[in-house]
Amino acid sequence: MNELFETGKKIIKILNGHGFQGYFVGGCVRDVILKRTVNDIDITTDALPADIESIFEKTIDVGKEHGTIIVVMDDSPCEVTTFRVESDYSDHRRPDSVTFTNELTGDLKRRDFTINAMAMNEDYQLTDPFSGREDLDNRLLRTVGNPDERFDEDALRILRAVRFMAQLDFSIAMDTVAAMTRKSPHLKHVAVERKLVELRKIYGRDNILHVKHMLVSTGVKKEMPFLCEISDNDFLNVIAHSLSGEAAIQIYHHPDIEEKLSELKISNEEKSMIKNMTALLNELNQERDAIKLSYLYSPEVISTVKTLIEINGSKADDRDCKIQLLIDSLEQSQKLPIKKTTDININGRQLMKYFNQEGGIWIKELLGILEEEILYNRLENDYDKIVKWIDANVEIETGNIKVN
Ligand code: ATP
Ligand code: MG
Repeated sequence: MNELFETGKKIIKILNGHGFQGYFVGGCVRDVILKRTVNDIDITTDALPADIESIFEKTIDVGKEHGTIIVVMDDSPCEVTTFRVESDYSDHRRPDSVTFTNELTGDLKRRDFTINAMAMNEDYQLTDPFSGREDLDNRLLRTVGNPDERFDEDALRILRAVRFMAQLDFSIAMDTVAAMTRKSPHLKHVAVERKLVELRKIYGRDNILHVKHMLVSTGVKKEMPFLCEISDNDFLNVIAHSLSGEAAIQIYHHPDIEEKLSELKISNEEKSMIKNMTALLNELNQERDAIKLSYLYSPEVISTVKTLIEINGSKADDRDCKIQLLIDSLEQSQKLPIKKTTDININGRQLMKYFNQEGGIWIKELLGILEEEILYNRLENDYDKIVKWIDANVEIETGNIKVN
C-alpha cells in the first residue's frame, strides 16, 4: 500500500473516532486490487459535509451541496464525500437532487460500474455488493444494475465505459454494450467539458484501434465534438496516442475540419500545438533541413509527429526519410545557437542607432538575415561579431538594405 492509503487510513480513523463510518471507495479500490498506480484516493463516509469540516483542521469546500469536501492531511488532498443516493435524472446528465444516506450500500449503488462500486475499510476489508471483484478477475465492465436505466440517468457513463475499456484493457459485458448502442444519442445532452475529460483518457494504449471500433459501432463517435466531423473510415485508419495527435493527423488529411477544432473546447495552447503538428506534417512533404525544422518546432511537436508517422506512415509516403529527418531535427534542437529571433544578440533599437536610421521594415529584414546566418553557424551570436559582419556585408540606404 502506498503513502496515500496511509494518509487515507488516518482520515478514516479520525472519522471512526468521531462515531462516523469511513471507507476507501471507487477508483482507488479498483486500482489497488489491479496493482495499478493509485494517484488519488477517495473516501466515503456517513458524516455530513458540515461534520467533515468541523472534524478536520484543513478542509476545502469543492462541492458541499454534492457532499464533497477535500481534507488536507499530511499535505495531500483527499476527497471525502458523504454517502449519497441520487434521485431522478430528467436530463440524462445530472441528478435533479442529491440525497444523503447513512448506508454505504446505497452510495455504492449509484456508482457506474461494478468495478468502481467497491469500498474498503481501514483494514482493507472489501464491501462488494455487486460482485465487482469477480468482474475485475474476469476483466469485465458491467453497470451496477440495469444498463439502460443507468445510461438514461447519466449518458456520460456510456463514454466512461469506453474509457475504462481503453485504460484497463477490459471487455464490456454484452448487455452493457447493447444498452450503450441504444442510449448513445443521449450523449448529445452531456457537456463537452465532461466528454473531453473521458475522451483524453481513451488514448494512450496499444488497444486504441479496438477502442475506436467500439466508439464507432456503438454510435458514441457520432456524439463526440470534433470526432463527429471525421468519417468513420478516416477515424479507423488513424492510430494516435493522444487526442491532439489524432486531431493533428486528421486535419493534415482534411484541412477543412480545422475550424471544427473549437468544438472540443481545448485551450489555445493545445490548439496551437495541434496546428504546429499539422504544419510540420505538411512541411515534411517539402524540402526542409533538420536545422530549420528544429528551429521552427518544439522537441515535443517533433517527437509527437515522429511517433504519428512511425505508426501511420506507409512506404509510399517516404516514411523512413521523414523519420530520419525528424530524428536529426531532435538532435539539432540541443545544439541550436539561438532558439528564437529575440535570442539574437542585437536588437532593432541597436540597429537603428548603429545605422542612424528610422525604424522600418528593414529591421525585420535584417534580423531575418542575421537569424539565418547565426542559425547555420556562419556567424557567431556575439554583438561585436554581428556588427562587424554587417559592416562587411550590408549596405543600408533610406530604409532599404542591400546584402553583398
Ligand atoms: P480515475 O483513476 O481515472 O480517476 P476513477 O474511477 O477514480 O478513475 P473518477 O471519474 O475519478 O474515476 O470517479 C470516481 C468514482 O466516482 C468512480 O470510481 C465511480 O465510482 C464514481 N463515478 C464517477 N463518475 C460517475 C458517473 N458519471 N456515474 C456514476 N458514478 C460515477
Ligand atoms: Mg478518480
